[in-house]
Amino acid sequence: MNSEAKRVEEKWLSAWGENWVLEGCANCNGIFVLPPEKVSQRCPICGQAALAEMNPADNRPIYTQPPELVVRFRAQENALRSNVAKFARSLWLAPTDLNENTLLGRLQPVYLPMWLVDVQVQGEWQAEMGFDYEIVSHREQYRQNNWQTERVKETRVRWEQRVGRLNRQYDNRAAPALEEQAEVEGKIGRFQLQEQKPFHPGDLTGAIVHLPNRPPEDAWNDARVVLQSSVAQDCCEACEADHTRGFKWSPHFANQQWTQMLLPLYTSYYLDDDNRAQMVLLHGQTGQLHGVRRASMKRARRIAAIIAVVTAVFLVLTLALILLGYTVTEEAFAWAGLVGVLTVGVGGTAVLPLLYAWYVNTFQSPK
Ligand SMILES: [Zn+2]
Repeated sequence: MNSEAKRVEEKWLSAWGENWVLEGCANCNGIFVLPPEKVSQRCPICGQAALAEMNPADNRPIYTQPPELVVRFRAQENALRSNVAKFARSLWLAPTDLNENTLLGRLQPVYLPMWLVDVQVQGEWQAEMGFDYEIVSHREQYRQNNWQTERVKETRVRWEQRVGRLNRQYDNRAAPALEEQAEVEGKIGRFQLQEQKPFHPGDLTGAIVHLPNRPPEDAWNDARVVLQSSVAQDCCEACEADHTRGFKWSPHFANQQWTQMLLPLYTSYYLDDDNRAQMVLLHGQTGQLHGVRRASMKRARRIAAIIAVVTAVFLVLTLALILLGYTVTEEAFAWAGLVGVLTVGVGGTAVLPLLYAWYVNTFQSPK
């Protein structure tokens, strides 16, 4: 790295914190900024490789600034603890590495990026605006030998065509900055973006920050959808209407400013039979957990082997009793039959742990 590049790197990294480092994952291509005490650890997103320091002159991230807003971690420690414990106990024949304390010990706070865009919107719009009104009618009913009149109130909507011009500044409309955003939210639930606060460097203590992998051009389509619903809502309010439908507009966008918001996620992992990390995600606001459940085929085989040994003992006993039946007393045949049935019963259960582990690992259900 030449000294000029090094200086540029240090300049933008120092905005994150003292001695912060840029690192990347060779497996999932995630790019992270992290404090010096967190360097070179296992990738907190995929868990399949150690993070390696990157040369920011060659691999300058899409966006390098610290965030404007942050959604802070607020999941209660006992909620995290109990969700992790429940997950660890939900699996029979779990790999030895899958236990509550290991998962909690490896819990890593990670911030996921979200784009925020400020934009000036100008243009014409048209829509049908709906206004609620009430009508009162009377219904006659024959009850208890009498005609009775009942007043019925009904709300209806009057629709009117409206057109208008719009010129307005919209700030901080959010759009995903990670390709994986929808997948993560599908697993642990949506983030409550309304809990956003202005960013302070102290918010980053102990955390690793995932940098965006989705450029603003891609995120813009999502931001436009969010903007359109904000604009439709504003037009509805301006008309003092109760509903909107058929909203159409021909907008012109100017002065786009892109900044970021960070979203809180905890990640942890356990190692399965093949020493492969299986990731466990916890929502930083709600504590909701998602983890892939992998049973240990090794433990299943061990238990099956123990059952097989017990079965063999029963089998020998059965044969001995049959022999006794021929040589000493015929009563032994009855005992041989009983022990024989037991042998078949015990032997049959040997396949259960194997079947269970196979079933979990093939159709493992996200918990
Ligand atoms: Zn990775």
